[in-house]
Amino acid sequence: MNYEFHLKARIRLSGEIEDEVLRELEDPVKERINKGVPEGRGVSKIEMRADGTGIELEILSDRYLRAHDALLRIRKILSQELGKRRVGLRGIEIRDYTITMDESLNVRLKVPFIKEMRSANGKTTLKLDVGETEIEKRIPDRILNLIEEKKRAKEYGSKSEHWELVFESKKKDFKYNGDPTEEMIKRHWIKHGSCRGQWIYGPQITKLFRTFEKIVIKELLEPLGYHEMIFPKLVSWDVWKRSGHAKAIYPEIYYVCTPKTRDPEFWEDVMDYYKVTHEIPVELIKEKIEGPIGGMTYAQCPPFWVFLQGRTLPDDVMPIKIFDRSGTSHRYESGGIHGIERVDEFHRIEIVWIGTPEQVIEEAEKLREGYRRIFEEYLDLQWREARVTPWFMAQEGLTETHENKSVGTIDFEGYLPYKQNWLEFQNVSVNGDKYPKGFSVKLQSKKDLWSGCSGIGLERWAAVFLAQKGFNLDDWPEKLVKEIRELPEVFRFL
Ligand code: ATP
Ligand code: ZN
Ligand code: MG
Repeated sequence: MNYEFHLKARIRLSGEIEDEVLRELEDPVKERINKGVPEGRGVSKIEMRADGTGIELEILSDRYLRAHDALLRIRKILSQELGKRRVGLRGIEIRDYTITMDESLNVRLKVPFIKEMRSANGKTTLKLDVGETEIEKRIPDRILNLIEEKKRAKEYGSKSEHWELVFESKKKDFKYNGDPTEEMIKRHWIKHGSCRGQWIYGPQITKLFRTFEKIVIKELLEPLGYHEMIFPKLVSWDVWKRSGHAKAIYPEIYYVCTPKTRDPEFWEDVMDYYKVTHEIPVELIKEKIEGPIGGMTYAQCPPFWVFLQGRTLPDDVMPIKIFDRSGTSHRYESGGIHGIERVDEFHRIEIVWIGTPEQVIEEAEKLREGYRRIFEEYLDLQWREARVTPWFMAQEGLTETHENKSVGTIDFEGYLPYKQNWLEFQNVSVNGDKYPKGFSVKLQSKKDLWSGCSGIGLERWAAVFLAQKGFNLDDWPEKLVKEIRELPEVFRFL
């Protein structure tokens, strides 16, 4: 897309200057303004007019030097030149900033810095409402990026995300053809919790979950040298800003708010209302809580990175290998909530490894090999592996494959006979420098630092396993039964 930038501004000064002084300044400005810009590009017109204690300015430019960048250059040049004459710069007012694109767009933008956006005759004009601070913060650039991103998302919208089969297991004998969730409800193994997309897991299925964990730890994490940590489960905006999730996860967040005060008197009317009506005065509560401070765990690893934030690490501690299984993850899923395979509250082991690019890529391979062994020997699953759009690209509306082929996500999908369809039950991701960069973590040698993560969804493992093998332990692989021994029968109902 081609752009034309037209900016009018007034620079305030600490004292008056004469028009002829300004004429003397025109040459250094014109000489220096297009520095580093290809010949004939950049700023095509600059007009400066002295106006008492200010300079009226008009800039016309193309995308090789956006007018707002030109303005910052002019500010620098003028402050040097006027400094010699003992006049200082006192700030800039943007009078009008219009960007014209040579394309009609049907994207909608709702940001406070846009006064007007109009498409007609193959052109789009954008009137920005920005000041000096917004220009320093590069807001005009981000607005243009956002437009490009929305345009791309529209173009790719109908095409599905990248998906490429990279491994397929042998076909397996299915021992069952039912929906495991239905069967577990009948057997009182699970009961729907009182919240949306939430289950209470009874002793039998819990034992199966814990056995999965035991196998993963014994067969995979211990031999590879992983150490357990406990990651926070309440995640702040700052973490999601750094991890990139702040760009897109709003429709799926379980938001968390704190009380405006913990003074019981402030809450007395809520308590009284409840005592008298036995109803929760939700509207009244809304008035007494702060806006959300963040939300419950969505992806599991982002809040871990605060542990390393801003630190430099010696090269010889790499690779670092850790995991967390200390709590739930929460997502507000769409209508698609189904059984135990798509829930709002789920349980996951999250594995994180950090090191040089070579170490991180190699570790991802080792994990994939380990998983394959577990799925063959302990679970006897029919599954496949696919290279998919990495999460951070999917959430940023990008659909092309990453320029670095080794950065990306492998989804593991298990077959559900009762649905005659596949279900993603875990993933292995090489995230490149995404997290170290976002959380400012560096290596002493200044070499590239990368990381990877892998999320094992216990509900999803159980959904796939039970859908293929059913509920008769005689049909289960021997190695699994040896680990699980027996399923505890605790409750009986009348
Ligand atoms: P889906 O496409 O099925 O929604 P996703 O791409 O959102 O999955 P990821 O963000 O890659 O999933 O999460 C990693 C893992 O977390 C998944 O492989 C799965 O095991 C688990 N997981 C994610 N969402 C849910 C959910 N709603 N219920 C149960 N497990 C989930
Ligand atoms: Zn992760
Ligand atoms: Mg999802």
